[in-house]
Amino acid sequence: MGEILEEIRRAYATVGITLDVPAAYGTYYRLLCAGCGRMVGNVGDRLLPGMAAELVAEQFDLYASGLLGCPCGHQSERARQLDAPRWQAARQRLAD
Ligand SMILES: [Zn+2]
Repeated sequence: MGEILEEIRRAYATVGITLDVPAAYGTYYRLLCAGCGRMVGNVGDRLLPGMAAELVAEQFDLYASGLLGCPCGHQSERARQLDAPRWQAARQRLAD
């Protein structure tokens, strides 16, 4: 489980999200914006190897366009730094 947690942590870090300490019931972690600390969601640690990175990769366009992530724009900015052409394409397709 430690390794999975580390994998989840790494996957979300790529889009500017940090994992908080576990919630009281232990298997869910709050996702916090690395830019401003606002809570942007939850993630469970019952994932299989590779799933966390896959999840975050699938959500790339949503983070890029601002449909997912923090209103401060930190995840979108991180997405732009990771892949500017894809960031731009996602915003044209998904954002108003
Ligand atoms: Zn933020």
